[in-house]
Amino acid sequence: MTAFVFPSAIAAPASTLTVHPLLLGEVELDQTFLMWASEPGTRRWIPTTAYLVLGPEAPILVDASFRDATEFTAASGVPARRPPEQELAPQLARHGLEPGDVGYVLHTHLHHDHTGLAARLPEAKLLVQRAELQYAAAPQFPVPFFDRVDIAALIGTLWGRVELLDGESELFTGVRTVHTGGHTPGHQMVYVDTPQGRAIITGDAVYVADLNLAAGVPSGYWVDLPDTMAALRRIAADSEGIVLPMHDRMVHERYADGIG
Ligand SMILES: [Zn+2]
Ligand SMILES: [Zn+2]
Repeated sequence: MTAFVFPSAIAAPASTLTVHPLLLGEVELDQTFLMWASEPGTRRWIPTTAYLVLGPEAPILVDASFRDATEFTAASGVPARRPPEQELAPQLARHGLEPGDVGYVLHTHLHHDHTGLAARLPEAKLLVQRAELQYAAAPQFPVPFFDRVDIAALIGTLWGRVELLDGESELFTGVRTVHTGGHTPGHQMVYVDTPQGRAIITGDAVYVADLNLAAGVPSGYWVDLPDTMAALRRIAADSEGIVLPMHDRMVHERYADGIG
């Protein structure tokens, strides 16, 4: 006979997941993108961050920056730069990885500064919300924020590696995707249970934590304002102190050694 174990006595397995910010280039935006209607005309260089999640069966990369700085600027008009140390290979090498080791790219959304390096990860499955890929194929204003080369690859040469998500799900133990919409129709966040607590990779629901989250003012880019505000409230409610935006320089200082 098996002894009954009172449910509360069953300890949850301790998380061994770790999260590491990768600096994969920088883009220059007007301050009004970072915080709605603030300081128009003030230009700022901001990082295009991806997050490496280690611990599941294969490494996960959350987002994939832009493809090439020169092509990015030519297609969209947005200045961009990527010095050699911010290239994908050296950023992965800091964690003992090569591009072929990455098992998954989890796209928070498909803006041009989040998709470009996915094609350079030859073994990775590419996870994206179905609603996001559908919107990216025929976006409304501003169209150049969805890179035609990257999106065409996702529905063409990379299609065999694309896995479409419909809403919220736990993709791996301790890694949950949370659909928010707001910034784009299929925008999602990623919750990662680390030994230090839950980390929320916000995608572009937050650009800069001090501006959008602390002040409660959204970024200047969204397709649905109520959903954008709901995402900010959800981060405030669900966060256990670790908020990881993609365009916030803070994370590269505070979490230079990773989380976990
Ligand atoms: Zn975006
Ligand atoms: Zn972005």
